[in-house]
Amino acid sequence: MIVIMSPQASQEDVLYVVGRAESLGYRTAISEANGTVLISILGDTTDLEPPVFEGLPGVLRLAYTDKPYRLASRDFQVEETIIDVNGVRVGDGHLVVIAGPCSVESREQILETAHAVRDAGAHMLRGGAFKPRTSPYSFQGWGERGLQLLAEAREQTGLPIVTEVMAPEQVPLVAHYADVLQIGTRNMQNFPLLHAVGETNKPVLLKRGMMSTIKEWLMSAEYIMSHGNHKVILCERGIRTFENATRNTLDVNAVPVLNAWTHLPVIVDPSHAVGRRAYVRAATLAGVAAGADGLMIEVHPDPSQAWSDGPQSLTFAEFAALMADVRAVAAAVGHSLAPTMATA
Ligand code: PEP
Ligand code: MN
Repeated sequence: MIVIMSPQASQEDVLYVVGRAESLGYRTAISEANGTVLISILGDTTDLEPPVFEGLPGVLRLAYTDKPYRLASRDFQVEETIIDVNGVRVGDGHLVVIAGPCSVESREQILETAHAVRDAGAHMLRGGAFKPRTSPYSFQGWGERGLQLLAEAREQTGLPIVTEVMAPEQVPLVAHYADVLQIGTRNMQNFPLLHAVGETNKPVLLKRGMMSTIKEWLMSAEYIMSHGNHKVILCERGIRTFENATRNTLDVNAVPVLNAWTHLPVIVDPSHAVGRRAYVRAATLAGVAAGADGLMIEVHPDPSQAWSDGPQSLTFAEFAALMADVRAVAAAVGHSLAPTMATA
């Protein structure tokens, strides 16, 4: 059971509800979102009668769920969560496209890419400054210098920036520059990191762990939300299966399942899902047809020279062509792209 307090509730009101729950032998967990305090009554609440809390000072309503994740569930919130990223609305029924290189490599590379993807209709710029590379000998990212270059690209293009944070101690630095904090597949269950981003007020793009179930993924979203940050965007990026013709297997089923289970926005990253440029288009369009709220696509000025993920990166021309197809498929399933700076 979740007791949702009204925005006007006082601290005494909250403590009173907590005291009442504890006097009945329940533990509680408090979280806060947009000025609203939520009190989760933990444990088996089947015998707990609603009137115990209903009508108490400051109590707005009760919500029920039998899911191990609560705040992320549709039981808790029926209406879609819409996340505003500097004016770009994610989850409002329009498709949002995030594009850019895997890694920020140089000033020229990121600025050139930012302009190209914006001109092709992208809504946000991606680029890694802290890179979670499988080998310790691979390029690890430029760190703060990379973040500064992303900020310069934002200044020039107006595109909000999405970039990965890998460790709790990096969160203040990355949050200082980024508009969206990306949690990579390898860190989906890095609980101290989820806690740390949960204490910021920046939107979080939470990628699915490559070996995680949808339920485990939602529990990770719950870690972030339970620390007060409800601005979570889920990103399906492919999971490991026995199939090795592609880098991962895009679980396109995750889109309708999540749309049923959670009010959080869901986007698809076809690039990491397939790992090969030739297959990115099909996976992208499948994600759009399945009802994704957005896409994250890797684009590079010269993929053959990319420092990371070149084989799956699109050229500028390929990305522009794909955007035309995305518009057509979105229209076919009753969606449309979010307005861009040029069209807003
Ligand atoms: C990335 O977005 O560049 C990345 C490393 O993604 P993932 O965590 O999905 O592998
Ligand atoms: Mn990548």
